[in-house]
Amino acid sequence: MSSGLVVALSGGVGGAKLALGLSRVLSADELLVVANTGDDFEHLGLSICPDIDTLTYVLAGLDNPVTGWGRRDETWSFMETITALGGEDWFRLGDRDLALHVERTKRLAAGHSLSQITGDVCRRLGVGPRVLPMSDDPVRTRVRSDDGWIDFQDYFVRQQCRPVVRQLAFTGVADARPQPEVMAALGGGRVRAVVICPSNPFISIEPILSVPGLRAAIENCGAPVVAVSPIVGGRAVKGPTAKMMQELGLAVSSATVAARYGDLLDGYVVDAAGSGDIKTKVHVAPTLMTTLEDREALARTVLTFAHSLT
Ligand code: GDP
Repeated sequence: MSSGLVVALSGGVGGAKLALGLSRVLSADELLVVANTGDDFEHLGLSICPDIDTLTYVLAGLDNPVTGWGRRDETWSFMETITALGGEDWFRLGDRDLALHVERTKRLAAGHSLSQITGDVCRRLGVGPRVLPMSDDPVRTRVRSDDGWIDFQDYFVRQQCRPVVRQLAFTGVADARPQPEVMAALGGGRVRAVVICPSNPFISIEPILSVPGLRAAIENCGAPVVAVSPIVGGRAVKGPTAKMMQELGLAVSSATVAARYGDLLDGYVVDAAGSGDIKTKVHVAPTLMTTLEDREALARTVLTFAHSLT
């Protein structure tokens, strides 16, 4: 297979599964993961970046396989104490996880960029590939339900995705500058594939593609853009992707996801033939990643497919 850089766009849980697969079939300097920061928020005085943290923990082998978020071997003294004190306990923060948020918050206040902090944390935790935020400027996803606009984590965690989604907005995105190393990588003529991981298109990938200049840089990078559908067996594997589609009046299908990405795509990996009217080259392969081998196999499939499109 050809050499060169693979740029992966990712949200949290679904995206990190494929990012891990890619990290195991590529050398560390061949993979750059661009993380959604639309889910980031400030809570209990801390700066929390759920998708960056999920990617970091997964790529470091520190993720919690039971919860799907946070760290493994976690303890909960902080959370128990917050509850006992009558504090806000709807967003669960384990003791080890908490240390990362404290450290990041302190460094942001001292003027370090989110990219610098993420890079340093990844190095310290033994993550090989580079993980970078889509932007160092704040972008905050908001959800309009029948009761008005709410912050994303209020919708996602506090209300457990119960509100009906009528509209999404990425506050701050119009003024957000794309992360400069991501732009340099895309413009450097060394990219062999851009992989859109099987993340939620509405809240994980669209914020990334909405950062001014980023979508155009991907389009012009000279490499094929291949997405993996997050819809498996006609359903979302996890999370509110399918529910959001229904609420936004869209069919729950891989074709709907492909249509969101539009002509950005050169290829699309789906789990079943006849996945609807998809206006790009389709490759059918198993896309459910249960084991580590599944993650590696899908990563290889995506890279081979991308290579065939060059
Ligand atoms: P979040 O930011 O934590 O919500 O995570 P993502 O947006 O990255 O991932 C959520 C999406 O991942 C959902 O739409 C799931 O359907 C999808 N997903 C999770 N596991 C898998 C898997 O094994 N295979 C595929 N194809 N999609 C998956």
